[in-house]
Amino acid sequence: TEPTAPQQNTSPSLSQPGAKRGLLFVLSAPSGTGKDTVINALRAQGMDFHVVASVTTRAPRPGESEGNPYYFVSKETFDHMLTHDELLEHANVHGNWYGQPLQPIRDNLNAGRDVLLKIDVQGAATVRKKLPGATFIFLVPGSVEELVTRLNIRQTETESEVRRRLMDAQNELAQRDHYDYIIVNRQGQLQEAVERLRAIILAEHCRTHPRYVNI
Ligand code: 5GP
Repeated sequence: TEPTAPQQNTSPSLSQPGAKRGLLFVLSAPSGTGKDTVINALRAQGMDFHVVASVTTRAPRPGESEGNPYYFVSKETFDHMLTHDELLEHANVHGNWYGQPLQPIRDNLNAGRDVLLKIDVQGAATVRKKLPGATFIFLVPGSVEELVTRLNIRQTETESEVRRRLMDAQNELAQRDHYDYIIVNRQGQLQEAVERLRAIILAEHCRTHPRYVNI
C-alpha cells in the first residue's frame, strides 16, 4: 500500500493574534555596571533587538565614533531636536546632555523588532510616564567595590569624573524599586546576568497580552 502523506496541520494558530510589533525595554544601570558587556553578550547569543544610539553633548572618548555608541552633537543641535519634539526623553547625566531620538524607536517597533533603551534613572522616569507599557529593567553591580574597580580599570574618565559617577551611582541605586526587574551583574558571573535578561525578554513575549507601546 502507498504510504499516506503526512497530515497537514490545519488547526488555528495558538500564538497571540494581530500584527507583529516589537516590545520596548528600558535598561538602566549605574556607570561601570557593565551594561554594554551584558547587551553584547546577549546579542552574541543571537537575540535580535535594536539598541538606540542616543544623541549627546558629551565629547567622544577614544574609540568612539559617530553613531557608536552615540551621535555627538552640539548643545545647539540638541536644543533644536528638543524643541522639534524629536526626542522621546532627555536628561543631564554626569554633567552632559543625553537624549533618545524618537524616530528609530518608532521605526523598529513598527517593523516588529524589540527596542532597548539604555538610559539613566531620570530618562526611565520620563519613559515610565509617557509609555507605561515598556518593561523597566535595572542592572546593579554585585557591590560598590566592584563598581569602583570597573570604573578605575576602564580609565576612560578622569579622577574627578570617576568620583562624580560614584556619587551619582548611589542616587541611581536608590531608584531601583521603580523598576519591574532587577538583575545583579556580579564580577565573574556575566552569563548569569545575560541569562536573566534573556529570560525577561522572552517572558514579556509570552504574556497573554504583550505590553505593546503606542508611540
Ligand atoms: P556614558 O557617558 O558613560 O556613556 O553614559 C553615562 C550615562 O548616561 C549612563 O548611565 C547612560 O545610561 C546614560 N545615558 C546614555 N544615553 C542616554 C539617553 O539617551 N538618555 C538618558 N536619560 N540617559 C542616557
